[in-house]
Amino acid sequence: MFSKVVIANRGEIALRILRACHTMGIKTVAVHSTADRNQKHVGMADESVCIGPPPSLDSYLDIPKIIAAAEVTDAEAIHPGYGFLAENADFAERVENSGFTFIGPRAETIRLMGDKVAAIDAMKASGVPCVPGSGGPLGDDSEKNLKIANKIGYPIIIKAASGGGGRGMRVVHTDAALNNAIKMTQTEAAAAFGDGTVYMEKYLQNPRHIEIQVLSDKHGNAIHLGERDCSMQRRHQKVVEEAPAPGITPEQRDRIGSVCVDACKRIKYEGAGTFEFLYDEGEFYFIEMNTRIQVEHPVTEAITGIDLIKQQLLIASGEPMQITQKDIRITGHAIECRINAEDAKTFMPSPGLIEIFHAPGGPGVRVDSHVYDGYRVPPNYDSMIGKIIVRGEDRETTIKRMRLALAETVVSGIKTNIALQQMIMNDQGFVNGSKNIHYLEKLLDKEK
Ligand code: ADP
Repeated sequence: MFSKVVIANRGEIALRILRACHTMGIKTVAVHSTADRNQKHVGMADESVCIGPPPSLDSYLDIPKIIAAAEVTDAEAIHPGYGFLAENADFAERVENSGFTFIGPRAETIRLMGDKVAAIDAMKASGVPCVPGSGGPLGDDSEKNLKIANKIGYPIIIKAASGGGGRGMRVVHTDAALNNAIKMTQTEAAAAFGDGTVYMEKYLQNPRHIEIQVLSDKHGNAIHLGERDCSMQRRHQKVVEEAPAPGITPEQRDRIGSVCVDACKRIKYEGAGTFEFLYDEGEFYFIEMNTRIQVEHPVTEAITGIDLIKQQLLIASGEPMQITQKDIRITGHAIECRINAEDAKTFMPSPGLIEIFHAPGGPGVRVDSHVYDGYRVPPNYDSMIGKIIVRGEDRETTIKRMRLALAETVVSGIKTNIALQQMIMNDQGFVNGSKNIHYLEKLLDKEK
């Protein structure tokens, strides 16, 4: 096992990684920007290195500075967390070429999954069900594009091969709009992602977002840890996540889970990963794979009892996985509410000084947050200030506990989305379960 790990991230995930390392007897190095000197994990780490000014490009995205920090502290591995450089294949490659271990899959795998057209090809070859689509990038031949669209059937969605964060997508309903939409998406994708490649998929009208968590080691062992339902989204961004997904049977879970496990073995996946699916009328359709730990990983930890970050560290250090599929037992239910520093109605970011922070507690309540009384939320980064994760023996109990946990939480000095989360937890539709990816936005429209 590593003796020292660099945590190349900030906020709650940096603290989460630090906790996993310290419980395993691994020393930690926090790298931080000047805006983050007072982060909780910086104070708790064995060593810390300031890597630059607040803008991410000059700090958390500055590859040479992060590698230099590993060199000067004699660390052995780098954990990228999520966001920032977590899915940057060049970073993974440079980390490995500099003699350190990247805690995540091989650069080649990250590169493959970062190109959605290539990822879909690889998944199809592994027997993973995908959304009916163009099966490759779209060219300039407008007649050919019309043929592809008509074969798939409208509505269709044009998506950027290198897209991410819910950007670079456009829904098309008619022949008349098709070729212009392709050109516009190509132009936008080239500007936003440096790659104008786009492809076409059937636009599923009312799907749910259901994803499968996997773990796969360097020795050909792979398991799945069941699914999460992340259908409560706003602008393609997840707001609430839960596990298991309401209404998914153990047979469905086993079936789609083993498809993902087979795919991991086939592509020689290494580490923790997530297969994202749209779920529509009883069928799963692969949309993309995330080659990193995800924000919503704690709901899976809550129902399986497996520490996913610990598993990432074990796998990266080359240990054969000790857990087998038979060891995975799903008990109870878990829900995560993301707490953001933003206005609950307008969604405008609300950075600034947190005067008082009071975390909820009680049975089944976990709070992953880096904030404290007197913490200043910098304006430079993501607005998430923490996550409340609640578990209970069933979904109903879990929702009741979450309502209480939200009511107990105090954040003063800045605005938060706690009122929005309370509205969702009290909404009859959410309580009934099985809502699609458009449900939350429709609910918000009604509230206006
Ligand atoms: P990103 O990498 O930007 O997150 P994804 O491919 O994961 O892009 O898609 C993000 C979201 O966009 C999905 O969760 C879903 O809400 C919507 N979406 C993507 N593809 C389709 C599709 N074929 N039909 C309907 N909605 C889609």
